Amino acid sequence: MPDNRTSDYYQSLRDSMVEEQMASRGISDKRVLEAMRRVPRHLFVPGDRRGKAYDDAPLPLGEGQTISQPYMVAWMTELLGLEGDEKVLEVGTGSGYQAAILGLLARKVYSIERIEWLAEQARRRLDELGFKNIEVVVGDGSKGLKKQAPFDAIIVTAGSPGVPQALVEQLADGGRLVIPVGPSTMQMLTVITRHGAEYETDEVGSCVFVPLVGTYGWKQ
Ligand code: SAM
Repeated sequence: MPDNRTSDYYQSLRDSMVEEQMASRGISDKRVLEAMRRVPRHLFVPGDRRGKAYDDAPLPLGEGQTISQPYMVAWMTELLGLEGDEKVLEVGTGSGYQAAILGLLARKVYSIERIEWLAEQARRRLDELGFKNIEVVVGDGSKGLKKQAPFDAIIVTAGSPGVPQALVEQLADGGRLVIPVGPSTMQMLTVITRHGAEYETDEVGSCVFVPLVGTYGWKQ
């Protein structure tokens, strides 16, 4: 079905999304809110779901995978505390939407996805939108991306049974890992901050994600 809605129409949906779903629920990082206002989320969802792209909910991408709820994207991004010069790893590219938000907020983004067609589709979308600082890689992100480590920030957008040691080891000093940890029915959003040889762990709230499947995640 052709999409006759204008970019002004989608911009007004984004402005409302930011006010009603994010700012009013405590997201205060101005750069995060601005990135959420800018990225055209409707271009990251399947064509027949465009009308729902700015709803307060995750949406299916196919093969049991989802694009996360907008608020969850904003919250996890805020927790990373990005200032603009970071090298970031995202585990679980999915649609590429979270990667696009990160691409506006950091210097370089590596995003790793285990399902090849999702990675390919996300890469194409990000190219078409002109992102030059995002690299999409196919692989098992539960092992991180050793050849590009260390990372100033790592975000895992799938639920893991535990904290993969490989990811912790790939954090730069001062770096942060944001990851949903726990059983497949519900996880605890966990932030791990590296201070030299010490690691601080904060549990900030519950969430529900599709499983992180891999060597240091859930088995197939
Ligand atoms: N961040 C995505 C977005 O903006 O659309 C949503 C991610 S979706 C909730 C979780 C993604 O993690 C799925 O695409 C899934 O295939 C991927 N995934 C699961 N286990 C993975 C692994 N070990 N390595 C890389 N990607 C993985």
